Amino acid sequence: MLLTLTTTHRPATDLGHLLRKHPERVQSFTLNFGRARVFYPEAGESRCTAALLVEVDPVGLVRDRRGPSGEGGALDQYVNDRPYAASSFLSVAIAEVFGTALSGVSRERPELVDRPLPLAVTLAAVPCRGGEGVLRRLFEPLGYRVEASRGPLDPSFPEWGDSPYFRVSLEAEVPLRRLLAHLYVLIPVLDDDKHYWVGDDEVVKLLRHGEGWLPAHPERDLIARRYLKHRRALVADALDQLKDEGDGSPAETETAADAAEALLESPASPGRELPIGVPDPQSDPDAREPSLNEQRLGTVLAVLKGSGAESVADLGCGEGRLLQLLIRERQFGRIAGMDVSHRTLETAAERMHRDRWSEAQRARVLLLHGSLLYRDDRLRGFDAAAVVEVIEHLDAPRLAAFERVVFGHARPATVVITTPNREYNVTWPTLPAGRFRHRDHRFEWTRAEFRSWGAAVAERHGYEVRYLPVGPVDPSLGSPTQMAVFERRTPS
Ligand code: SAH
Repeated sequence: MLLTLTTTHRPATDLGHLLRKHPERVQSFTLNFGRARVFYPEAGESRCTAALLVEVDPVGLVRDRRGPSGEGGALDQYVNDRPYAASSFLSVAIAEVFGTALSGVSRERPELVDRPLPLAVTLAAVPCRGGEGVLRRLFEPLGYRVEASRGPLDPSFPEWGDSPYFRVSLEAEVPLRRLLAHLYVLIPVLDDDKHYWVGDDEVVKLLRHGEGWLPAHPERDLIARRYLKHRRALVADALDQLKDEGDGSPAETETAADAAEALLESPASPGRELPIGVPDPQSDPDAREPSLNEQRLGTVLAVLKGSGAESVADLGCGEGRLLQLLIRERQFGRIAGMDVSHRTLETAAERMHRDRWSEAQRARVLLLHGSLLYRDDRLRGFDAAAVVEVIEHLDAPRLAAFERVVFGHARPATVVITTPNREYNVTWPTLPAGRFRHRDHRFEWTRAEFRSWGAAVAERHGYEVRYLPVGPVDPSLGSPTQMAVFERRTPS
């Protein structure tokens, strides 16, 4: 299968920098289903074209049981369209061969990464389930001029009718990374099939590569259904998250609810014990009382520093309040903030003035869009993780998934989790009895409930756990925030 990518941006050879593939060389890549080659049929100042040629080894696929399921009989496994039709194989090749461009990284041309460029794509043979109409419904709302043509199935036998495959060309002014993401997601959607098993992590991929365009796409439901191979539970999950972003409704009410929670938690009562890690305000006469939120972050920071971690992931980072503290600590050479809400991440990036960062700073601090309910390889390899005031936003039945993702898959040596202590709520006269502190909280736990969950998680995954209070401690009710610190027993 063949994909060509042309730009008329000047100098057009910048395409080579963005793709990180030198225009003067033919480069070859081994994939687990065949081979990919990248070469440039033309590379001038005013026009440059890169070609990605992917060869699928159908016999290898049969051997590895990755080929078609054989619905059409045994021969179908050997004689099929997979070697030449644009399909999920091409998506995988795009991700493997143009991975850095797809993730929006360019060492040589960082200023071009998000800039719309005049780009044109041709795809030699695209199976469009549903016909040309579907092709247009998918690409035209994204701003592409679409051309599609079909030849006869076999020129010697015109009576056999048209080929089911389209030759497609797409043209738009888009950032290259965006175009690659569109192709990555929409090619298998057109084909309405995938060569591999579709599981939870596919939802994360869809959300990640759909970032910034899929939530508002008029065909988002069709895209999610086909991309996730019509697996209903996955599709429902993906649509839930996409709708949150696309409908634009939650943002304002969310802010109002957040403000209400902050106000509720703001007066720290006099005569309290200072939690660890929080500078004593008495030592600075001008210092005001730290809010509970500040105390919480200070405590988490102290624990993370004390753990000796050199890399840390803030899971459910929200607007990046903890990230801002982490960044100031030289101890942390690698930092990631992850959140399911794209909009929140954008706010975090703005608050941190990410646009003014150097390449090195960007490489040190990653902002990741993803869900804590789905296994995500990007979360592996961190020494520590913080999950601050997040678990109470997850539906209780999904905690098992959260546990698998964080403790089963990511497995950092230290995990710090904070959550409200429900017992403490009675001390807030403005909070009606039985109500939670925030509209979006799905539960708030007593100390006993948190401890029993934490102990079970630690036991199941080989961690030790201890608990610390955050905020003023009431002798019978405990502190407003409770914190669990998990430490992995065995080296990873
Ligand atoms: N840790 C931050 C934000 C807490 S609010 C702070 O202390 O300021 C809870 C955050 O969890 C929100 O930003 C919300 O978008 C995020 N969140 C909720 N469900 C999530 C999920 N499944 N995966 C990742 N983040 C999630």
